[in-house]
Amino acid sequence: MDNVFQLRSQIEALQKSLEEKDRYIAKLERDLQELQHSYRELEQKYRSTAETVETPTAITEFEETLKRLVHRIAMILQAEKCVFMLFDRETGELYAVRPAFGLTDDEIRSFRVRATQGISGEVFRSSQPIIFHDAVNDPRTLQEHVALLRIRNGVSAPLIVEKRDEENRVIDRITIGVVHVFNKRYGGTFIDEDVRLLERLARNAAAVIVSAQMYREVVEEKEELVHTIESLYAGLVMVNKHERITQMNASARRIFGIKNGENVIGKPYKEVIHIEQVRELFEKALTEKNEGAVEISVKDHQSEAERIFQVQAAVVRGDEENDLIGAVAIFNDITEIRNVERMKTAFVSTVSHELRTPLTSIKGFVSTLLQDTEGFYDRETQREFLQIIDTETDRLKRLIDDLLNVSRIESGRALQLNPKPIDLPALAERVATIQRSYTTKHQIILEFPEDFPTIIADEDKVDQILTNLINNAIKYSPRGGEVRVKGVPEGETVLISVSDQGIGIPKEHLPKIFERFHRVDNRDTREAGGTGIGLFLVKHLVERHGGTIWVESEEGKGSTFYFRLPLQPPPEQPEDEKPTK
Ligand code: ADP
Repeated sequence: MDNVFQLRSQIEALQKSLEEKDRYIAKLERDLQELQHSYRELEQKYRSTAETVETPTAITEFEETLKRLVHRIAMILQAEKCVFMLFDRETGELYAVRPAFGLTDDEIRSFRVRATQGISGEVFRSSQPIIFHDAVNDPRTLQEHVALLRIRNGVSAPLIVEKRDEENRVIDRITIGVVHVFNKRYGGTFIDEDVRLLERLARNAAAVIVSAQMYREVVEEKEELVHTIESLYAGLVMVNKHERITQMNASARRIFGIKNGENVIGKPYKEVIHIEQVRELFEKALTEKNEGAVEISVKDHQSEAERIFQVQAAVVRGDEENDLIGAVAIFNDITEIRNVERMKTAFVSTVSHELRTPLTSIKGFVSTLLQDTEGFYDRETQREFLQIIDTETDRLKRLIDDLLNVSRIESGRALQLNPKPIDLPALAERVATIQRSYTTKHQIILEFPEDFPTIIADEDKVDQILTNLINNAIKYSPRGGEVRVKGVPEGETVLISVSDQGIGIPKEHLPKIFERFHRVDNRDTREAGGTGIGLFLVKHLVERHGGTIWVESEEGKGSTFYFRLPLQPPPEQPEDEKPTK
């Protein structure tokens, strides 16, 4: 009777523990399913990377998943620590990766072994799991790690990735690293069942890690590409075959006036791009696979300046023939090129005009004199004609000299100086007298103090500077007014200003006014005529003397040109040390 009773209670106890085991197994299976689920999610994410735009969150999600993984493995195996080690082909080492469970970041960083060493190495090389019960005395363990990580016992399994064919048959197995669990909780020992469990978990984990790695590589490659595109000087816009924008770099956003922080990715290009020619380019590329180019002119939204872009469209094809991915357009800023071209054309026509005007009058008076065989014109009139011819010839010579000087300066040769002491107020007086003979509408007023110092300079060049500035002051004050030439000694320099009450210079032209060929183009300036090289030469001449030149002006009110010359020009300097301003 006793025996029967004992037997029954034994059976009951066994049954209870069996039920417990069943529950345990059911729980494990749930965990496994969850793992598989998160793995599938990851895999899906990886597959869709090509379309993903928000990459950083996905990466942290991966970290999260890995974190959950190590956590769960540790829980399931009731271990205090769990860590993955991956094989680094370049160094031949196995290294611990973040995130791990029960290890600090420092411990993870220093947990690294050669793939030929220790338990990690053995598991990796043999692709077989290992269980060890006494880490300190086990000959296979590496003592420094046992000490560092305070390992008592553990199970280690290989991380094996299986490649499968379409029928889900395994065609290849690669060991990418190992997974360790250390220290059974509550002072317990690991058992063989733990080994099998870890092997199974390791298989899932390996798949997750591999897709995470691939994912990360893809993301990094993509980020690199995006950064490269973003920092391109040229504008770049990419649209997919569904007419939606997939890329638009900073330069392109600027062209289309898209505000910082405004997101255009994913929007139909027709909503974002309002320039008809560009839309047509995309349309042709996407529908007819036609790769064209156009030139567009856009007002820059920041500087208000007009910019010219050459836009080139290209069709983006997939690997397969006729597989259209989308279209890309590149925007090259050719404003400067076009400006120089425009300036050169304008220059050629103004120079021709400037050359023809004096020539026409020279030719006219010479012909008149030649035809006058009868002596119709008296001597005085003849002299007058010759005087005009003389003046016009001078004008021609000046223009040609100017042109030669510009080309001399452009080819890097500085103009020669011939410095000697000069009396600047007297020189200004001579220039003013000549200029007064050209105008009746302007009063040229000179203001120099009595004790104005003698300066050492090239007299012809200073004459040229003053002539140009005073002549401009007259030329660009069509309604007349005062032209004031003022000189002030200032320390080791003299400051000269030439002011007028003329048309003034629009603000946006002020920074460019001393550039060669630069002219303000409006009705007044067109009437005045000119070549746009005067101020360029003046600036060069002032700087040749070691001086500086600048202008202040208000449109409609007048302009004042200032230049400062040292009392003595600096000794000859090598070309590249010359001041540029
Ligand atoms: P040019 O007079 O032959 O055109 P410059 O180099 O002397 O060439 O001058 C360049 C431009 O600067 C002129 O075309 C004119 O638009 C502007 N400018 C020069 N001086 C004056 C001035 N005193 N007032 C207004 N505009 C001026």
